[in-house]
Amino acid sequence: MKPAMRRPLVAGNWKMNGNRGDAARLAGELLSRNVGAGAAEALVCPPFVHLVDVGRQLADGRIALGAQDACADEAGAHTGEVAAAMLADLGCRFVIVGHSERRAIYGESDALVARKFDAVRRHGMIPILCVGESLAERERNATAEVVLRQLDAVVAGSGIAAFATAVVAYEPVWAIGTGRTATPEQAQEVHALIRGRIAEKDATISASLRVLYGGSVKADNAALLFAMPDVDGGLIGGASLKSTEFAAIVAAADG
Ligand code: PEP
Repeated sequence: MKPAMRRPLVAGNWKMNGNRGDAARLAGELLSRNVGAGAAEALVCPPFVHLVDVGRQLADGRIALGAQDACADEAGAHTGEVAAAMLADLGCRFVIVGHSERRAIYGESDALVARKFDAVRRHGMIPILCVGESLAERERNATAEVVLRQLDAVVAGSGIAAFATAVVAYEPVWAIGTGRTATPEQAQEVHALIRGRIAEKDATISASLRVLYGGSVKADNAALLFAMPDVDGGLIGGASLKSTEFAAIVAAADG
C-alpha cells in the first residue's frame, strides 16, 4: 500500500517532436479525453518553443506544464540556453533534469545536473531528476553503483531537504525508446534502492518522495509497473505523443 501523500504522477516527455499544430492538437486531445481529472497528476513537457501555446491551452491547470531541461545559470551570456526563471515565468511547474539523452548526447555531468536541479528549485519549480544505467552497466552489475552515484551527486549539492520538493525518475537507458521495458520486479528493485538511499538521510522525505519509472511504458504494461510498491507513476516518452496511449497510462495510474 502506497502512502496517500505520494500522489501518482504521469509525465509526458514530448522530446524534440512536432510543430505548433501537432502540439496544439495533442494538448487539445488530452483535454477532451479528460486527462488529469482523476487521482493521478498528469504533466506534459513540450519542446521549449511550444510552451507558451500549450501553457495557454492548459491554463486551467488540470494537466500541469513542464520543461525538458533548464540552464544551470541564471541569465546572460549563454547563447541557446533557457533559464529556469524563464520557464517559471511561463507557468512551468516541473522541469526534467539529467535525462539520459542530455547526459549521453550532450555530455552533461553529474555536477552539471546537480546545478540544474538547484536552478529549478530556486525558481519554485519541481525538478524531475532522471537516473539510470546503460545496458553495459547493467550487464556488469553496476546498476546500483551508477544510480546511487547520480543520486548522491545531487544530494551532496543540494542537501537532502531539497528532495522534499523533488521527483526522481528511474530510467534504465536500455529501456528508453527501445520497446524493451524493465520488468515490474526490476523496476521495483531499483526504486527501493533509491528510496532506501534517501531514507538513510531522512526517513520522512523518503516516504513522501515520488519515484517514477521511465522506459518504454505503454498502455498495456503501465498498470503492472505502477502496482509495484515503490513505483509512483511514470515518465513517458514515445507513448506520450499519442493521446489515446497517454490517457490510458494516466488512467492506469488513477487506479
Ligand atoms: C524518456 O525519454 O524519458 C522515455 C521514457 O522514453 P520512452 O517512453 O519512449 O522509452
